Amino acid sequence: MLNIILMGPPGAGKGTQATRIEDEFHLPHISTGDMFREAIANGTELGKKAKAIIESGGLVPDEITIGLVKERLAKEDCASGYLLDGFPRTLPQAEALTEMGPEIGRPATLVVDISVPDEELIKRISGRRVCPSCGASYNIHSVPPKEEGVCDRCSGKLIQRKDDNEESFSLRLSNYHQQTAPLIEYYKGQGIYHGFLGTVSPDSLFEEIKALLEANR
Ligand code: AMP
Repeated sequence: MLNIILMGPPGAGKGTQATRIEDEFHLPHISTGDMFREAIANGTELGKKAKAIIESGGLVPDEITIGLVKERLAKEDCASGYLLDGFPRTLPQAEALTEMGPEIGRPATLVVDISVPDEELIKRISGRRVCPSCGASYNIHSVPPKEEGVCDRCSGKLIQRKDDNEESFSLRLSNYHQQTAPLIEYYKGQGIYHGFLGTVSPDSLFEEIKALLEANR
C-alpha cells in the first residue's frame, strides 16, 4: 500500500515530484498548502483564519491542520493509497497522524524526504511559479514550462506565490529546521523513512523515488 508522506524544506521540489507521483501512481495528492490556498481564494472561515499566517510564512495551528487532514484522509479516494504533501510539519501533527492513520484504516507506510541545502533553496525560491488550477510547480530557471506563464499540464495561468518572498521564506525555512526536521528522527524510529538528495535533476530524482514506490506498492 502506498500511503506516502512527502517531506522536505520549502523549495526542495516536493510539488514537482508530487505531480509526477500523482500522474504515475494515480494517488490522490493531498497538499495542505493547496487546501489552505483554496480556502483563502474561496473566502471560507478557514481561509480567513489562515490568510495572514500563510502570507507571513508562519504555520497554521496544529488543531486546525490536523482536523482538515483527518477529514480529507477519511474520504473514499484515499482507501487505496494517498500522497500527503506538506503534512505533517510538526511533531504533534506527526503523532496525530500515527494515531488517526490506523483508526481510519490509513496508516502512513512510506516517508519520502527530499533534502536540499539552505543556500540552494534561497536561490530557487525567487524563480518558483505554480499553477493554482492543478497544483503543478515550475522554476523559470531550472524547470520552465514549455510556454512562458502557462501550465504544461492544464494550460492554467502560472503565478508567483505571495509567500515566496525573502521575508516569508526565511520564516518558513526556520520553521522547517525547528519544527519539521525533527520528524526525520521520528520516522526513522518507525522504520518508514527514506531520504533523497534533491540537488539532482527532477527527472533523476523521480526515477529514484519511482524505484522505491514500485518496490513497495
Ligand atoms: P506549502 O504549500 O506546503 O508550502 O504550504 C504553504 C503554507 O501553508 C505554509 O507556509 C503554512 O503557512 C501553511 N501550511 C501548509 N501545511 C501546513 C501544516 N501541515 N501545518 C501548518 N501550516 C501549514
